[in-house]
Amino acid sequence: MSSNTGMHLVGGRQEAGSGSEFGSFDPRTGEPSPRRFREAGPDQVDRAVEAAAAWVSRKGYGTVQERIALLDGIADALDAAESEIVSVADRESGLGENRLSGELGRTTGQLRAFSAFLRTGDHEDRVEDLVFDGVKLVRSVVPIGVVAVFEASNFPLAFATMGGDTASALAAGCPVVIKAHPDHPETSELVGNLAAEVVSSMDLDGILSVLHGPSIELGSTIVESPAVAAVGFTGSVPGGRALMDLAARRPVPIPVYAEMGSVNPLVVTPAAAESRAEEIAEGYVGSLLLGAGQFCTNPGLLFVPDGDAGERLIEKVGDRVRSSGDHVLLDQRIAARYEEGCRTLTSRGEVLAESLADGPGYRVRAVLVEMKPPLEDIEEVFGPAGVVVRYSSSEELIRLLEGVPGALAAAIHAEEDEPESADLIDVLAMRVGRIVWNGYPTGVAVSPAMMHGGPYPSASDPLHTSVGLAAMRRFQRPIAFQGVPDAYTSI
Ligand code: NAP
Repeated sequence: MSSNTGMHLVGGRQEAGSGSEFGSFDPRTGEPSPRRFREAGPDQVDRAVEAAAAWVSRKGYGTVQERIALLDGIADALDAAESEIVSVADRESGLGENRLSGELGRTTGQLRAFSAFLRTGDHEDRVEDLVFDGVKLVRSVVPIGVVAVFEASNFPLAFATMGGDTASALAAGCPVVIKAHPDHPETSELVGNLAAEVVSSMDLDGILSVLHGPSIELGSTIVESPAVAAVGFTGSVPGGRALMDLAARRPVPIPVYAEMGSVNPLVVTPAAAESRAEEIAEGYVGSLLLGAGQFCTNPGLLFVPDGDAGERLIEKVGDRVRSSGDHVLLDQRIAARYEEGCRTLTSRGEVLAESLADGPGYRVRAVLVEMKPPLEDIEEVFGPAGVVVRYSSSEELIRLLEGVPGALAAAIHAEEDEPESADLIDVLAMRVGRIVWNGYPTGVAVSPAMMHGGPYPSASDPLHTSVGLAAMRRFQRPIAFQGVPDAYTSI
């Protein structure tokens, strides 16, 4: 096999694929990479899932101590290869080396955060009480089984091969079968191989497979595999919804934890606009255009009060958008979808500002559009597009926010002594998973208290988070032991 042929990782073995040929492109130039992959075939899916299923057990694969060593070992291996990983990921994503270096730190920090959590023993979530006059009842958890992980395009490291879904599933004791994202196969291959060396050195071959392919059939085949017990997905609403429907149609339906796109509102109150219109405008545009706007937490919807201060704010946002130049998107499909989304926005609203896009690759312009209600059917435009909505009173603002679709995050810019803020918090709390006070929604900390999810369509299951230590709960099934001797219930 030519060394320039991309390889799948099937239960610990590297194998070439047999399906259609594909490879990544440099988004800055549109040039294809010389390294070609062939899509994984159904037999490779079967063998990957079979190898993973062999490790499914009540206590999870390996011991807790081994899982701690595995997560730390993978983190160390990725950190040691930082320059190579960052350079490959930059070529495939165009996101820039600084951003990717930070993203790798987040990825390895996340793996270590889960290993530290396992050390505390709290992952067992053990609750004990007495029922029926003295019978001991213990509630604990078991690993859910084989987890299928779908990588995201816009986080080639932190929401990809060794990203949050994989880290939380491995921490929970679940083997994983990963569907690599076709935008960055070489990054996924490299990271997967580094992780596989650690897996192999611990004789855990089988708990990790990485399959590549550009067609939705590959992902569908994985989700339909009978031994797959849960799905972790990060991607678009149509993609997540398709997998939810597919999983529900299986003879044995399984949970799909899909973190999808959302239109995140940012509200500026009259007093905040009065006291710091320029500062908020700067911060808003920084968040809107970060990573070419390719963040699920992008503050796409800006609510501004009528009046002079609101005008100043909108003008400044418009100036910054206009002078922002071009923005490189991740792939041709995302760039085409962005243009289509902008066409829909501009057909419904008035264009306030546009930058100029000129040059090779997947470059697009930033756009700022003013829209009037209703906002119920507003959809995410993935990329550097912002929507301004003006309001004339706090009652109107509340009515507008009640019409915003479920979202991952909202931000409120307000002064401390505004009584209306309580109503804003109350209405937003019913529509989003996280509320940010005088800040911006981009930037999601990996911490015990984080909630990164929300009401549909931002996520398939509003009860769970895909970021932070609680992400592990998605892959741990609660179980109660009634009167069972302790010797049989410990992990
Ligand atoms: P995408 O098109 O949905 O792709 C994500 C993955 O799902 C890919 O591997 C894709 O495979 C697969 N897929 C899509 N549709 C499928 C279907 N019908 N059946 C089976 N597999 C399917 O998403 P993207 O454009 O790469 O990513 C951008 C989106 O992700 C944005 O909407 C963004 O907001 C969202 N996002 C959300 C979060 C979060 O935490 N909530 C984080 C990052 C990004 P193929 O490519 O092979 O089709």
